[in-house]
Amino acid sequence: MIENIPLPETDDPVDAPFWEGTRRGELCIQTCLQCGRMRFPPRPMCPSCQSGASHWQRVSGRGRVWSFAAPSSPLLPAFEKMTPYVVALVELEELPSLRMIGAVLLTAGGEVSGVSAADVHIGAAVNVDFRQYTDDVVMPCWVLA
Ligand SMILES: [Zn+2]
Repeated sequence: MIENIPLPETDDPVDAPFWEGTRRGELCIQTCLQCGRMRFPPRPMCPSCQSGASHWQRVSGRGRVWSFAAPSSPLLPAFEKMTPYVVALVELEELPSLRMIGAVLLTAGGEVSGVSAADVHIGAAVNVDFRQYTDDVVMPCWVLA
């Protein structure tokens, strides 16, 4: 387990179902019960129709790299020891306006460290994978397809 990088809170009632999904190994997206629009990050109200009613829908986990960064110094010490690594903004297959950030892996279950900008390109196909940081925090990450 990696305990020295900043991690998200997972017990906020608005986004707790997202984290429950990642702990099951499922990528679940909040979806409006009134108009059907998916939204990420999770919010209490639909930005399209203002409904507060939503449910969580499992998605394919397939997407494409919309943008990416290969961070370099100066970094927080916990991140510096991970370099080289790549963080991508991925648009999900279900709805291109749904974009999610995550580390890029070369292989499923692989390491965050050891990925360089030369390994990634805009438009690259990716599949979701999950990386456990603590008992509560399982982060989605992206494996090059
Ligand atoms: Zn709506």
